[in-house]
Amino acid sequence: IADKSKGQHFLKNPLVVKGIVDRAAVTTTDTVLEIGPGTGNMTVKLLERAKKVIAVEVDPRMIAEVTKRVQGTEFQRKLSIIRGDVIRSALPFFDVCVANVPYNISSAIVFKLLAHRPLFRCAVLMFQEEFALRLAAKPGDDLYCRLSVNTQLLARVTQLMKVGRNNFRPPPKVESRVVRLEPRNPPPPVNFVEWDGLVRLAFNRKNKTLRAAFTTSKVLSMLAENYKTWCSLNGVATEEPDMKAVVEGVLAETGTSDTRASKMTIDDFLGLLSAFNKARVHFS
Ligand code: SAM
Repeated sequence: IADKSKGQHFLKNPLVVKGIVDRAAVTTTDTVLEIGPGTGNMTVKLLERAKKVIAVEVDPRMIAEVTKRVQGTEFQRKLSIIRGDVIRSALPFFDVCVANVPYNISSAIVFKLLAHRPLFRCAVLMFQEEFALRLAAKPGDDLYCRLSVNTQLLARVTQLMKVGRNNFRPPPKVESRVVRLEPRNPPPPVNFVEWDGLVRLAFNRKNKTLRAAFTTSKVLSMLAENYKTWCSLNGVATEEPDMKAVVEGVLAETGTSDTRASKMTIDDFLGLLSAFNKARVHFS
């Protein structure tokens, strides 16, 4: 019954299911959001521990399957199902999220969850191995990238376990890993769109110096446009800025002219964004 177009690989190893549910540390007062319950292997284990499980599932055949599985049991009243694509659905309040989802929507799910309010306690999520390693990568690691920085700005990421292909039916092409995300609460006081604009530019050339990354003519003309827009929105009179001088000034002042994105910490990026903003340079 597995539909590969929906990334359906069902967890067949009960020990892995138990491992995930254990690591989510669900208690009897928790509302759990499960994304992609499939046939319900994890759902029934969650129902044993949670106050309530809300499952979002796109495939009506799977909804029928899980519904049948809990029908006439004590769990029936604890389970509610939202039918639809999780990326397009409004999410309800939840304490904990658990998900084994198709790998092509991994990134969309991470950022949808981290933008959700009120913040949840933690999410325990299964991902393709490389994606999981990217999420948790640190400055200097080969896989350190925009995804690492954006995720770690908003959450603490912990690797929980490796899960081999053969724990799934049918087996996917690649190995998987389970990670935990704990949102930083309170969230960092930055405009995420602007943060992402800066990080994207820096990682476009992650092994080049910031001076090289930020002083191409394309980047400078974009920043000059943003500068003028910002000044007019804020009622500040302005002439055509010498953007190269402004950018070089900010990099010199923060001591980051020769720094490379691949080695920068979250705090380095936060400091840089704030220095740029003080100089009225914006990234969105
Ligand atoms: N959780 C089950 C398990 O571990 O055995 C099923 C995992 S299977 C990898 C992914 C599940 O997510 C499938 O049931 C699939 O129909 C569902 N799914 C796929 N895309 C989805 C989407 N955009 N929104 C909600 N569910 C989705």
